[in-house]
Amino acid sequence: MELSQDISLKDYSTMHLGGNADYFIIASSAEHLIEIVNWAQQNHIQTLMVGEGSNILWRDEGFRGLVIQNKIKGLQIEDQADYAILKSGSGEIWDDVVEKSTELNLSGIECLSLIPGTAGATPVQNVGAYGQDIGSVLYELDAYDLKNKKVVTLSPEDCQFSYRQSIFKTEPNRFYIMSISLKLSKQQLHPPFYKTLSDYLETEAVNDYSPQSLRDAVIAIRTKKLPNPKDYYNLGSFFGNPIINNDQVNKIRNNTKINPPVWKIDNQKSKISAAWLIEQAGFKNYHDQNTGMATWKNQPLVLVNELARSTQDVLTFKEQICQKVFDMFEVQLQMEPQLLP
Ligand SMILES: Cc1cc2nc3c(=O)[nH]c(=O)nc-3n(C[C@H](O)[C@H](O)[C@H](O)COP(=O)(O)OP(=O)(O)OC[C@H]3O[C@@H](n4cnc5c(N)ncnc54)[C@H](O)[C@@H]3O)c2cc1C
Repeated sequence: MELSQDISLKDYSTMHLGGNADYFIIASSAEHLIEIVNWAQQNHIQTLMVGEGSNILWRDEGFRGLVIQNKIKGLQIEDQADYAILKSGSGEIWDDVVEKSTELNLSGIECLSLIPGTAGATPVQNVGAYGQDIGSVLYELDAYDLKNKKVVTLSPEDCQFSYRQSIFKTEPNRFYIMSISLKLSKQQLHPPFYKTLSDYLETEAVNDYSPQSLRDAVIAIRTKKLPNPKDYYNLGSFFGNPIINNDQVNKIRNNTKINPPVWKIDNQKSKISAAWLIEQAGFKNYHDQNTGMATWKNQPLVLVNELARSTQDVLTFKEQICQKVFDMFEVQLQMEPQLLP
């Protein structure tokens, strides 16, 4: 095994914080991954599989084990009459997969353009944006099951997808995803689209609704709204939109005399905008001298590491926001990125 030892995990998180890992290795193929996992199990070394680190906050204590970075490549297309199956190695860069799909005029993932990270990480938190999510287009995926020590093929039902959730989060570190297969449509696209997207299309007078034109629109919106993690260290949305009872929505409406941005789930529950809650709690474009952390000027859901010295600084700032939101609205914000290990 060609292992690196005692490496800084800062380089494996787009927040650029965290302690050291005892060991590190790159998995270059599915066979290589299995070989690494078998070796680690035989030697009683704990493992963790990561992609590009765009959804990971490493603890300051680091990781007493082996971090495996996924570089399993490969793209294949299986063409059918009105759809195609796009199979991607899990270590492909996700946006390259989206770009390929729009070049082929296939739809289903064009609104997931410009999301950082690898293809294999997308099922983990059921990645979603602008009305699309990976759970809706996943055909199947291949993974190594560390519990039963064998390769398995999982269907979308097996993955137990819900909003930013999947079996990969409820049973962490059990499956290492090796490839994903997506069922993408050849059908002509029609409105309605997600509100932010349709507003943009209207303003820019775009009316040829193709996977490519929607991808271009999403890229333009995201570039304006979100910081590039290469220039401003961040993990995208730091909080999910909380799901709350409709009674609670009414209470917030009555107390604030404002209609909060909500998306109805059913007669009992709605999803409320975490960005709105954070802004109302006074954290719009907020720069905290104490922790060196800030909220991004165009999107308060994004926490930016300006001058933080440690992961503890991020957690302190996060707590400050959660506490204020809870005190004002009795709503508990949940952190979206994974705090590892
Ligand atoms: C600027 C920015 C914008 C973002 N926008 C969005 C957005 O719009 N929507 C959204 O949903 N997310 C968004 N994200 C979050 C992030 O990009 C996604 O969660 C992405 O899928 C993470 O990919 P990664 O390769 O970086 O995974 P990592 O951060 O490396 O890993 C994330 C988790 O997945 C696990 N994991 C990684 N690869 C595998 C594998 N092959 N098998 C099993 N487990 C694995 C890791 O152990 C870890 O628990 C954004 C992040 C940033 C920085």
